[in-house]
Amino acid sequence: MEKFVKEILVSPEAIAQKVAQLGQTITADYCGEELVLICVLKGAMVFAADLMRQIDLPIILDTIVASSYGNSTESSGEVIIKQDIKTNIKDKQVLVVDDIVDTGYTLHLLCEKLRQRGPKSLKSCTFLDKPSRRVVDFAPDYVGYEIPDAFVIGYGLDYNEQYRALPYVGIIKEEYIH
Ligand code: 5GP
Repeated sequence: MEKFVKEILVSPEAIAQKVAQLGQTITADYCGEELVLICVLKGAMVFAADLMRQIDLPIILDTIVASSYGNSTESSGEVIIKQDIKTNIKDKQVLVVDDIVDTGYTLHLLCEKLRQRGPKSLKSCTFLDKPSRRVVDFAPDYVGYEIPDAFVIGYGLDYNEQYRALPYVGIIKEEYIH
């Protein structure tokens, strides 16, 4: 374990097992239909890359960059799309893939914005969920792991753009937060 990690919450083995399970569930739920998978950058890119290879369906991949107003540690009730998808999602089956849901603002508001474009269906999938932190009434359709209220890094998740490449999800030591 790296020196800046206090505790590993999700091991590489547990990640692989859960991603395979999510892939099977999603494959069964959409049953042969084409899926537009929207990866919320940058945090979800590692998860989305793994997940799409566990989904046995025709997939159109797109990416989006969203940002919620407010400071770096607390989200707020506004989300802006900083870089939009290129796919026309009207009448398409859409799955928005994110890394973590905390207050719920970002994914909830992003899904609302995308819904206005008239997809046939729109669901959300997050690898991690912190339900105890939820501020808005929002439940992702697919969840990998529920975790306690702690700041986590790895498997795509960063602190100040570092640690995204860690192969596990861990809690960062306090002395490395500044
Ligand atoms: P929400 O709008 O749900 O409060 O915030 C979601 C976003 O906050 C995530 O996409 C992620 O960028 C960031 N975030 C929330 N909790 C954590 C965490 O524990 N670690 C990291 N690295 N980012 C987090």
